[in-house]
Amino acid sequence: MIKVEPYRPQPFIDFSLQANVDAYQAALARVRAELLGKHYPLIIDGERIDTAEKLLSTNPCDTSEIVGSTARATTEHAQRALDGAWTAWATWKAWDVDARARILLGAAAILKRRRLEACALMTLEVGKNYAEADVEVAEGIDFLEYYAREAMKYGGFGAADTTWYEGEENGLMYLSLGVGVSISPWNFPCAIFAGMLAAPIVAGNCVIAKPAEDSGMTAAFVVDILIEAGLPAGVLQFLPGVGEEVGEYLVQSARTRFITFTGSRSVGLHINEAAAKVHKGQKWLKRVILELGGKDALIVDETADIQGAVTAALQGAFGFNGQKCSAMSRLVVVNSVYDSVVDAFVERAAALTVGTGEANANVTAVVNAESFDKIRAYQEIGKGEGKLLLGGQAPGKHGGKTGHYVQPTIFGDVDRHARIAQEEIFGPVITVLRARDWQDALDIANSTEYGLTGGVCSRDRARLEQARNEFEVGNLYFNRKITGAIVGVQPFGGYNMSGTDSKAGGPEYLGNFMQMKAVTERF
Ligand code: NAD
Repeated sequence: MIKVEPYRPQPFIDFSLQANVDAYQAALARVRAELLGKHYPLIIDGERIDTAEKLLSTNPCDTSEIVGSTARATTEHAQRALDGAWTAWATWKAWDVDARARILLGAAAILKRRRLEACALMTLEVGKNYAEADVEVAEGIDFLEYYAREAMKYGGFGAADTTWYEGEENGLMYLSLGVGVSISPWNFPCAIFAGMLAAPIVAGNCVIAKPAEDSGMTAAFVVDILIEAGLPAGVLQFLPGVGEEVGEYLVQSARTRFITFTGSRSVGLHINEAAAKVHKGQKWLKRVILELGGKDALIVDETADIQGAVTAALQGAFGFNGQKCSAMSRLVVVNSVYDSVVDAFVERAAALTVGTGEANANVTAVVNAESFDKIRAYQEIGKGEGKLLLGGQAPGKHGGKTGHYVQPTIFGDVDRHARIAQEEIFGPVITVLRARDWQDALDIANSTEYGLTGGVCSRDRARLEQARNEFEVGNLYFNRKITGAIVGVQPFGGYNMSGTDSKAGGPEYLGNFMQMKAVTERF
């Protein structure tokens, strides 16, 4: 057991202070000078390997700018990575858990020192503004700190309670699984990427990390920190590549023991199915952990503090342009306060600034051309399904820069069965639904196949208690925004088609990456 202070989440940087804004801008200048144009190779068994083909990172807010690149792994690289990781596992699994945890603590300390650099890199690579980037790096540090401490509770024989039985010694051991693959999304390229590999690694597994195509540089930045903190060669294999190629190969391989995936519902369902098929030579059932999309609703009833509710809606809807699985994409308002809530929501959304992440705009460009086209298509679908209250255009330009800019868009009086009320758009396009009363609002909120986050703004105790039991989501918030889960404070994971509810950043998360063995000895 390492003697460390209890886990405490990182505080966020206050960007209302000019000194912090200045520090952020200095970090942007440093990252521009030192990392712009940088190329990151694959890492297999500690060896940096380049490939003929590259994956480019493009600044979403200025698509004429290539931020840098990573190598692009092939299936041969995936085979080598699997070979090396299984070899490394033979030693890594036997490491003392405290020693494994110290590597995470070391990495957290380095990331704290390089916090603004990591932020600035994400501003350029995925278009995050200052606060969005900062809360994400804070979350990345939190995952490392939290999982390091969590790991220690699994050490040794008898880590879990078993019942005493006469004449025998009985106990439970927690053992690692082996080699798994971690496949992550671009929208939290530091925090989710770090958390999804740190947890299985500290539990004694070796991991092949396949980051998203758009955010390989931030992922490589995190990997370098873990290596600097002392992670032995082969324990973490870094394989940036195309999902349908190298990701698919790793999912299918008979030698993959577990898959931890965060991303879209469609890819997640495909992985779930592909992983269920047993291949020649495979001697286990693959363990699959999936965290997928959302169509998250905030309910506002007639007892709510209306201004507070509008603030919650605004923050949940437009933080990082709605590109969060937890984003509030549906605002459900009971009829008697519908007009006052929706008018205020539209008025405040209209005042949001649009621009680059570097200029710290409220709403920046969306990540890539595919997302831009998808959001633009939903803006058109919405025009046929609801009343356009704000935005509705995707200009693709802002302030003289060409980028994936879409206007913050709000549709009112949308039917609960409409496509824009049911399908994840993953952008700043909000669907407002009118409910007859509280019960109708709750029914609307529960009417999609997703179940990730949700919220209620109400002063009615009975309704809050009803929602506590009946609102079908993994993360429920009352009288606040529905985004921004903090590691250890709000363990995160979705119901229904939003995932396997693994509760990242929670006390049981590491159990996903371990198997228990009950051992009995009679004396
Ligand atoms: P995505 O599903 O397109 O891609 C995710 C990852 O899967 C990428 O690394 C991609 O390369 C890989 N991939 C694609 N096809 C694959 C295949 N056939 N086999 C193996 N890997 C494959 O998702 P995205 O656009 O990167 O991220 C956005 C989505 O992620 C949204 O739906 C969002 O809601 C979801 N998300 C969920 C959570 C959560 O915790 N529930 C968190 C963040 C994002």
